[in-house]
Amino acid sequence: MAAVARRLFLVRRRLGERWALLVLAGLWPLLGMGLVSGPALWRGEMLPLAIVTMFGLTLTLAVCRELWPERGVAPTSTVWGELELGLLLLTATYFLISATGGLRSFLYPLVYALVSFLMVVHRFRAAAAAWMVAVVALEALVGWRTVAREGWALPAYHLTLVGFFAAGNLLVLSSLVRRLRLGHDRQVQSTLERIRQEARDFRLISAALPPESRARSREEEQLRMAHAAVESIHEQVFHNVDLLRSALGLHTCALLWCEDPDPGAKGRRHPKLSIKELSTDSDLVVQSGALEGPGLLAGVLAEPKPLRLRALGGRRMPPYYQGPVEVTDLCALPLLDGGTLRGVLCADRIGDRPFSSEEEVVLAKAAAHILRVVEHERVFSAVERSKYEQEQFYRASELFNEALTIEDVHRKTFEALRRIAGYDLAVITRADDEGREHEVVAVDVPEDAVDGATKWGELAERLGGLRFVGDGSLVGMAIKNRHHMPANGELLDGDTVVFSARTRLRGAHSLLVLPLQRGEQVLGAITLASTRPHRYTAPIREMLRVISHQVGVSVQNARMYQSMEERATTDGLTRLTNRRAFNERFDQLHALAERTGQKYAVILTDIDHFKSVNDTYGHPVGDQVLQRAASVFAGRSRRVDIVARYGGEEFVLVLPDTDGAGAEHFANELRKEIGEMTMTSEHGNFQVTISMGVAEFPADGNDRGELLERADQALYWCKEHGRNCVRRWAQMG
Ligand code: GH3
Ligand code: MG
Ligand code: MG
Repeated sequence: MAAVARRLFLVRRRLGERWALLVLAGLWPLLGMGLVSGPALWRGEMLPLAIVTMFGLTLTLAVCRELWPERGVAPTSTVWGELELGLLLLTATYFLISATGGLRSFLYPLVYALVSFLMVVHRFRAAAAAWMVAVVALEALVGWRTVAREGWALPAYHLTLVGFFAAGNLLVLSSLVRRLRLGHDRQVQSTLERIRQEARDFRLISAALPPESRARSREEEQLRMAHAAVESIHEQVFHNVDLLRSALGLHTCALLWCEDPDPGAKGRRHPKLSIKELSTDSDLVVQSGALEGPGLLAGVLAEPKPLRLRALGGRRMPPYYQGPVEVTDLCALPLLDGGTLRGVLCADRIGDRPFSSEEEVVLAKAAAHILRVVEHERVFSAVERSKYEQEQFYRASELFNEALTIEDVHRKTFEALRRIAGYDLAVITRADDEGREHEVVAVDVPEDAVDGATKWGELAERLGGLRFVGDGSLVGMAIKNRHHMPANGELLDGDTVVFSARTRLRGAHSLLVLPLQRGEQVLGAITLASTRPHRYTAPIREMLRVISHQVGVSVQNARMYQSMEERATTDGLTRLTNRRAFNERFDQLHALAERTGQKYAVILTDIDHFKSVNDTYGHPVGDQVLQRAASVFAGRSRRVDIVARYGGEEFVLVLPDTDGAGAEHFANELRKEIGEMTMTSEHGNFQVTISMGVAEFPADGNDRGELLERADQALYWCKEHGRNCVRRWAQMG
């Protein structure tokens, strides 16, 4: 019936007219009654009429249900649906009985079976009661002739049996079925409830999310940020690793990363290491990036402590090599993030050159720096902000990532602060390690600054380069408390000492001093002042706090670059220019002289009998001699001169705008000064002499190599002729 109704429903849809179909559905039983039941009625048979009427009714019901579902016309699971189904079955059964002989039909037991079935499966008592009424009515319709002929005995007998089956099933089976059904219903309900709860949760989440369009762009923004963050981590870390290698003369500098930071996880003993960044001279490093095992580094993984290995050789080599490499010294430093091992920074060398403790400190600083770059990027991408705020942070972060020199960092800091908070005066101070003494390192007053009782421009001038002791000043307090001052960002009393007593900020209404720090280390502070009140509200303060964290990272970064670059160009023992940097500077000087036709002189010097100084007084005393000689060379030369350590105890000086005679004169002064110096040692005092060879551009040669060689020949001449002398190549006999 439902299938017929659905088909009709589709027809209706096609016709697009509800009423037409309803009329059709109503006419059908009437038509049926007229055609089928008419002759039967004429003969006085009531059963066909009843059957057709029942069909007509149920069909009308089904059509109505399809047409007006919204009006709650009962769906099949309701009492109407159940009633409909039962009546249909009963009508069909009585139709069969009537067709096969009425109350005496051999099919009569079907009625018992059907009644039993209906009593078992019924859900609604009303439907069951209606069915029983229908049974009596149908019984009467089928048996009215029999009653007329034979009396009430047979129908009564049938009805008694029907009643018996109905009652028996109702009492026993239906209660059982009901219990089962209830259990099942409860299960279904709980499942439904769970699903609903999940759906509700989901809706809650989605309700908290911004509207669709915004979500998309925000996602994009986050993706872009994450992407940029990863890129900048790679860039910065690689730059560090590469700089470390050249500054410390390493064979390989590698950053290994722990793939699984929790050593307990997955039952593995050690976290798995992979190469994150690597700078090397070797072509025997592992290509795939993933390391097979920790090898020599197992100890660092087991107990994260710095590892220094000496006199390696043969088969013992760090795990990032795949072939035999004659590594002699290894320094491995664990990168710890709040107690969790994140990676290992490895530096190795060839040629028995152990790592000094000073170099180890540089490596440790670089390791801490690398970790913070990563950490900083992570913190940054985790900060949940509105799109506008994110944009500001993103731009600020971009600015900082580009900043390599300290001046750059200052400039970019002002730019970011102007964008995020605005100010009339911004000051960056640098603190000493104890956070007591401070120095103003950068001051900025924007063009549109609004002057108060104090003229910002004049104050900025007084502040430039100011050194002060922080006790009692807001800068000192912010650094001591590691917290911004004043807490509410307002300057209530113009007499408050922010820097020193002579540089008060009268006329500023908003003020904020933010400490700059890296972990526990204090670097300095940023001070912002504005004539406008309530400028540094809580959300702005929060943003500035994060920005100041970034500035801290960048300041530290820039300072480290500075020291690493110094390291890469200076000789560790004498602090003079090293040979590599000398070559570069000499190149530039020579090119300039060639262009301008300017003279210059080259002096090559070598300490006499230095080997015996080492042998007699010891290597450390020899080192001191080198340092003292170097300080004489550096102290006596001009800023434009190049003074470099050329080799072991050989030095080179290049003097622009100086001819051979001038250089010879200068060299003799140096020689005398060094010769007169008294060196002290445990084994007594002594003196050293030096020999020097001089060559002149362009008189003695046209290219750099030639000039150096000629100066060397002149130097050799001195060695041959009694030492402690100066010789010009042009005057060599
Ligand atoms: P000469 O007068 O012919 O120059 O004799 P010399 O003994 O100085 O000979 P030479 O120039 O060849 O000696 C170089 C010595 O310098 C050998 C090496 O032990 C020593 N030396 C090189 N670098 C250093 C260093 O950094 N520290 C110390 N203490 N000694 C060094
Ligand atoms: Mg020598
Ligand atoms: Mg010598």
